[in-house]
Amino acid sequence: MPKIPARVEITSFPQGKRIAVTTSFDDGDECDRRIVAAFNEWGLKGTFNLNSGSLGTSGVKPPDGSRQKLDRSEVAELFRGHEVAIHTVTHPWLQKLDPSQIALEVLEDRKALEDIVGYPVRGMAYPFGGYDARVVEILRNLGIVYCRTCHVVSPCFPPADPLLWGSTGHQYAENPSIPEQFEKLYANPRYSGVFYVWGHAFEFHDRKDWASLERIFKPLSGKPDVWYCTNIELFDYEEARKRMVIAANRATAFNPSALSVTLNVDGELVDVPGGKTVSLVKE
Ligand SMILES: [Zn+2]
Repeated sequence: MPKIPARVEITSFPQGKRIAVTTSFDDGDECDRRIVAAFNEWGLKGTFNLNSGSLGTSGVKPPDGSRQKLDRSEVAELFRGHEVAIHTVTHPWLQKLDPSQIALEVLEDRKALEDIVGYPVRGMAYPFGGYDARVVEILRNLGIVYCRTCHVVSPCFPPADPLLWGSTGHQYAENPSIPEQFEKLYANPRYSGVFYVWGHAFEFHDRKDWASLERIFKPLSGKPDVWYCTNIELFDYEEARKRMVIAANRATAFNPSALSVTLNVDGELVDVPGGKTVSLVKE
């Protein structure tokens, strides 16, 4: 007898992972290189919010160890596999600008970054964490998918308003620290959610504290039940899962998106590829 499943759940994250770990780093400082090198080794993902107006243009990579901005010529290769996102052209307090200047700061940054990386740049972080209702409305009309604030929010995802997205904490959060917070959540097998750390690569440099890169971030890595993703990947999967169609009789599922979505069918994980209808009936 074919068996119709008793319960079909759309999992929060791909492959039914129970936690998503994501990070972001602002300002495009050359110290980002050390973050990327470590993250590539540990399997962590980052979103890098860049000010296109302050990237170097000489074509010469500035030497490590100083504090210079990245050169435009190295950005695409450096951040491959990670996400490049908007942080405005010149890093102003957006709420002090008039509407046209706000729009230009955002769109010109987006265009310049897209010229460099070769894909649509859709996410953003507020310079200085600064915004007001007017700024948020302009970003909404420009089609920005999410914009990160400096607020600490729990749970941080999905946000009530993606343009007012808060994080789990800053890299140097204390009492509890980032690794302490993660350890506590991870140790609870029933916990599911997004763990989001933001900061600046140059803070490790300025504090002469590069040891903390490993102390803070390595404990988040290497977990089989954690999805390591960029900021935009979270929003893209969330969109895709919200569009999933499960037949009322639970016999079939249709995924109208381009991304695969994972279902939990009576405790068994079933991947539904983008654009496909699959049977959930067990013969
Ligand atoms: Zn900044």
